[in-house]
Amino acid sequence: MKTRAKVVVIGGGIAGCSTLYHLTQEGWSDVVLVERNDLTSGTTWHSAAQVTNFGMNQTMVGLKTHSIKLYKELSEDPDHPINYNYGDGGIRLASTKEQIQGYHHFASMARGMDVDFEVIDAKECQRRHPLISTKNLIGGLWDPLDGDIDPYQLCHALTRKARQAGAEVYTNTPVTGLKQYKDGTWKVTTENGDIDCDIIVNACGYRVNEVGAMMGVHHPVASMEHQYFLTEDIPEIAEAGHRMPLLRCPISDYYCRQDKGGLLIGFYEQNCKTWGMDGIDPNFVNALCPDDLERVTDVLDGAFERMPALMNAGIRSIINGPITYTIDGAPLVGKIPGKENAFCIIGLRAGLGEGGGHGWLLAQQIVHGEACYDTWCLDPRRFTTHANVEMTSLKAIEDYQNEFRFHFPHEHRPAARNAKTTPLTPVMAKENAEFTVINGWERVEYIKPSEDFHPSLSFHFDEAFDIVANEVKNVQNNVGLTEVNGFNRFEISGSDAENFIDRMFCGNITHKIGRVGLGYLLNDFGMIKSEATISNLPSSDRGPKRMWYGSAAASEFHDMDWLKQHLKADEEVEIKSLTNDQTILLLAGPNAREVLSSCSREDWSKEAFPWLSVRECFIGFSPATVMSVSFSGELAYEVHVPNSFLYAAYQTISNAGKGFGMKLFGSRAVESMRMEKGFLAWKSDLLTEFDPFESGLDRFVNLKKDNFIGKDALQNRIKNSPKQKLVCLKVSCKHAPAYGGASLMEDGKVVGTITSGDWGHRVNLNLAYAFVNPEKSELGTQMLLDLLGEMISVEVIPFGPYDSNFSRILS
Ligand SMILES: Cc1cc2nc3c(=O)[nH]c(=O)nc-3n(C[C@H](O)[C@H](O)[C@H](O)COP(=O)(O)OP(=O)(O)OC[C@H]3O[C@@H](n4cnc5c(N)ncnc54)[C@H](O)[C@@H]3O)c2cc1C
Repeated sequence: MKTRAKVVVIGGGIAGCSTLYHLTQEGWSDVVLVERNDLTSGTTWHSAAQVTNFGMNQTMVGLKTHSIKLYKELSEDPDHPINYNYGDGGIRLASTKEQIQGYHHFASMARGMDVDFEVIDAKECQRRHPLISTKNLIGGLWDPLDGDIDPYQLCHALTRKARQAGAEVYTNTPVTGLKQYKDGTWKVTTENGDIDCDIIVNACGYRVNEVGAMMGVHHPVASMEHQYFLTEDIPEIAEAGHRMPLLRCPISDYYCRQDKGGLLIGFYEQNCKTWGMDGIDPNFVNALCPDDLERVTDVLDGAFERMPALMNAGIRSIINGPITYTIDGAPLVGKIPGKENAFCIIGLRAGLGEGGGHGWLLAQQIVHGEACYDTWCLDPRRFTTHANVEMTSLKAIEDYQNEFRFHFPHEHRPAARNAKTTPLTPVMAKENAEFTVINGWERVEYIKPSEDFHPSLSFHFDEAFDIVANEVKNVQNNVGLTEVNGFNRFEISGSDAENFIDRMFCGNITHKIGRVGLGYLLNDFGMIKSEATISNLPSSDRGPKRMWYGSAAASEFHDMDWLKQHLKADEEVEIKSLTNDQTILLLAGPNAREVLSSCSREDWSKEAFPWLSVRECFIGFSPATVMSVSFSGELAYEVHVPNSFLYAAYQTISNAGKGFGMKLFGSRAVESMRMEKGFLAWKSDLLTEFDPFESGLDRFVNLKKDNFIGKDALQNRIKNSPKQKLVCLKVSCKHAPAYGGASLMEDGKVVGTITSGDWGHRVNLNLAYAFVNPEKSELGTQMLLDLLGEMISVEVIPFGPYDSNFSRILS
């Protein structure tokens, strides 16, 4: 066994094998895989191993496309072909028009990734799958490349090819310890000896936390028991004369594919069970959980009704095995939060279909620092301090019970709520607030007219539309108040802090005490990494001269990693997170200044405290830091308050606001207003796939600056014309907003992709932002939007159509 390697991948299921193979494809051959037993002896060996192209966003679709392409190549290997069925196709069934709307959206989104799905009616579903009845069925989504693969052969094919490229694989080699040296490299202790390495990858499936514990990490991954059975041959299949397509059923919660002359049916029962919560037997190897078909009888009844032929089929064998889940159902693939040179590829619940793609994107991140797609939807850092196994198990149960029922826009499911709250959460609840969840935080979405107000789940504008319109109207004409909790905030201080910040941002950042600036951080490829405000605070009894770095609520771990990664050893810079200690009360509207003036002694006049100012002060008796910044496009103040004083500050502002008829508003109103102003949202409009010029942020880049992260790469990029341009669009319909990922079409070809969309209540327009081919970015250009199955015309309009001269913010 080697004693040193560049990378050690721990775990020989599909996740580890794919990572190893792709590391060699990216050019690294000094890589090893260690597996405690045999390859595939965890979950992989007994997987139903279905491989679909369906995904909830373009990154997922793209990585699944990679899996399919790779698996096809492996199946066509002249020397070692593997078994892969991919011509049968598959149908996701639907019994409601809202599910069909969703399928139309996913088809529109997939089209932008060169994937052709088809929405078909019930009769056509039956024509393609003659075993099913059309009872209570209105149609489905057809994935032409749906199929299944032999998991054992797949993993062996990947490791064979990795070995040919120089990688080594050590089976029956359990990892028993991990130690990080001072220089950031690792010692991997195994039962067969130690291996020193630069980078480790945890790919340990349901044992993820045994290995996580060896490096002091607790991964938010939990396992569920999951069962399928295989039937004897079914005569109706033979009679059909062709293989049956796959089925996935959100009506009765099962999936089904052909296996030999019979069917394989897997169940997502309501009465489901977590697994391994109190530890896992070390001898659970190539093993299964006890069968328990009793548990799935409810689901089975639904399957019988859909496929009557099933009722006469004998059961050949039953499989019940552990399957891993995360808090949002997507795996954790990328950097391990807070750890150097450590990555994971864990929480895979559809690892056979996705594994090829996940290993591909992970290997790119390890070797190059970034992947070809924005991988935020997979990034382990998208969950922060609230994420643990207990919470994950609750979300896993909820997810399992809803396996094929995708989330609708604005749908907030009830499990594991109230993870992060402030003293105001119950106060807002009493005011009838509807809450959305952002990185675990309960954030006010809008104020409901009554406690039992529940808008329908739909891709169309819902019943909260007029409520949001009124909240916007009040902010536009008077003054509104909302709580923005969980906003990410770091305090950065030290003698080198300003130089450090200058190096991190691609534009000029003011260091004038009392001033605030907005800027962008790029990655090493000159692409958008983050967006943050820098507020310069004076030395005072609250602390030394320091900067507050404010960024998106979910970015806490991501941004902290990025900043710390770029600190030089000899730089005197301290970075402290205040994210969980402070909350913002946001006052917005033309009367915001009057409200603020009546509850704080300072001079808040335009002259004394112009736009982009920051000041330490008191709101009543509550210490606060106020910034004159605005995401809404109206005169606005962010009042940052320590959580211990939050309720007092809120009462003070509320009382002051009474005289002005101040009303509460929520994040949906904010979203609508920021779209009207052309302010972009991180990870919707701001992605690592685009540079700041493509993203319309030219004024935030200063190429004359001595240096900044990503400068050389950006300078090289701009020698070529931009690949895409971000534009603002007017959507010519009133029933639904454009959704992120939807395709813009011309002459049957995709010419752009929506990043975000919403109704602009002040400009009375259906607005969207989209990356389009540069020749489509001229004002007035018309295109067609594939919106929920209809072709709707859109037109390029000026970026941020509301108050383009900023007269309201500056008032
Ligand atoms: C019944 C069932 C049906 C499924 N059907 C499908 C399907 O149709 N399509 C699909 O895409 N997915 C399906 N899945 C899910 C899929 O099988 C998993 O997502 C996938 O197999 C997970 O692979 P993995 O590599 O992450 O984990 P595993 O296969 O569990 O591999 C982890 C490996 O790490 C090793 N390991 C653990 N600890 C150590 C250590 N200390 N040292 C060294 N090695 C260690 C283990 O021995 C194991 O081999 C199904 C799952 C189940 C249970």
